[in-house]
Amino acid sequence: MKSLPYLELKPQHQDLRAELNQAFNDVLDSGWFIQGKQLEAFEAEYATYCGSQYCVGVGNGMDALHLILRAYGIGEGDEVIVPSNTYIASWLAVSYAGATPVAVEPDLATYNIDPAKIAAAITPKTKAIMVVHLYGQLADMDPIIAIAREHGLKVIEDAAQSHGATYKGRVSGGLGDAAAHSFYPGKNLGALGDAGGVTTNDAELAKQLKVLRNYGSQIKYHNEVKGYNSRLDELQAALLRVKLHRLDGWNVQRRALAQQYQEGLKDLPGLVIPFVPEWSEPVWHIYAVRHAKRDALQKHLQDAGIGSLVHYPIPPHLQPAYAELQLRVGSFPLSEQIHAEELSLPLDPYLAPEDVSRVIAAVRDFVLQAESATSVTR
Ligand SMILES: *Cc1c(COP(=O)(O)O)cnc(C)c1O
Repeated sequence: MKSLPYLELKPQHQDLRAELNQAFNDVLDSGWFIQGKQLEAFEAEYATYCGSQYCVGVGNGMDALHLILRAYGIGEGDEVIVPSNTYIASWLAVSYAGATPVAVEPDLATYNIDPAKIAAAITPKTKAIMVVHLYGQLADMDPIIAIAREHGLKVIEDAAQSHGATYKGRVSGGLGDAAAHSFYPGKNLGALGDAGGVTTNDAELAKQLKVLRNYGSQIKYHNEVKGYNSRLDELQAALLRVKLHRLDGWNVQRRALAQQYQEGLKDLPGLVIPFVPEWSEPVWHIYAVRHAKRDALQKHLQDAGIGSLVHYPIPPHLQPAYAELQLRVGSFPLSEQIHAEELSLPLDPYLAPEDVSRVIAAVRDFVLQAESATSVTR
C-alpha cells in the first residue's frame, strides 16, 4: 500500500508553483534582496491578518522571541514564565536574553499553560509571561492577561504554531503585548527556508525591533545598541506573500480534516483526543492524540505505512541543555506524561479525506486490540 508520510510539502508547492516562480522572478529582477519592498508589503499584510498595528520581519521564530525580550530590556537577573510543555525554542529564547525560564505546568485538557498555576510562579524577578499556543490552539488568554496586568508583567505570545487561530473571536498574534511567529517551512504559514516575525500594537517596541534586527542600527553605519543580524529577506517575504493568500483556506481544510479525526476517534478506550474549549477555534498545526502505549501505536501505524511524529519526546526541563536548572523526572509530571503519551497524526491541507480515514482505521485497529489485550489480563 502507498505510504502516507507525516508531512509532505510538495503538493502545496506544486499547487502554487506558478505564483511562487513569479514571486522569485520579481525579486530576481528587482536586484534588491534585503529590507526592501517585499518585506514592507509582507509586514503590512501580515499585521493586518493578525489584527495588529505592526509586524516586524526577522530571521526565524526563535529570534522573534529573543528580540522581543531584548527590546523590552528583559535579561540578566530577570525571570520569564514559560510553559513546561513546549518546544525548547521558547525556553532558549529566554536563556539567550540572559534571563531564567521559570516553567509552569499545562492544563492536561488543552496542553497549554494552566492560568491557575501562574500566580504561584511569580517572584519579584518576574518580568513577563511567555504563552505558547501549542499545536495551533490558543491558550486561555483572558485570565493570563489579568494576572499579568495585576503584577505588571508583559504577555508574549509564542504564535509559531497558531497562525490564524482565534480566542473568543480574536486572532492569534494580537492578544498580548507582542507575539512571535515562525515561518519555518512546516508551519501553517511556512517560507521556503527560515523566516519569522513579531506582531505588536506597541509602536516603541516595533521601532526597537527594527533596530535590533539590523545590527542595532537605524541609520546605516550608526549603531545605537549591540544588535543582531536577523532579517526576513526579500525572497522569503515575496514567497510568504503568495502563501498568506491561501492561509485561511488551508486552515479551513485543516479544520475539516481535524473534525473527521474527532468524529472517527471519539469514545475509544484509552485514546485521548484533542479537547477544544467553546472559546477556541484552533488551526490544527498538529493533531495530537495520547495513548499509554504510544510507542506501540506509532509502530503499528508505521507498519501500516503511516507516518507520525512525537511532539515532543523530551520536555525542556529534562534536556541536558537545561542541566543547570537541576530539574529532574517528577519536576513537571503533567508535562512528562504528555511527552510520554503524545502522538501527532498526519494533518495537512493537501491530505484527502480518504487519507484521514485510513489513519483513523489504523488507530482504531490498534486501540481496540490493545484494549482487548488489557481486558484479558484484567
Ligand atoms: C517552530 C517553533 C519555534 C521556533 O521557530 P523557528 O522559526 O524554527 O526558530 C518556537 N516555538 C514553537 C512553539 C515552535 O513550534
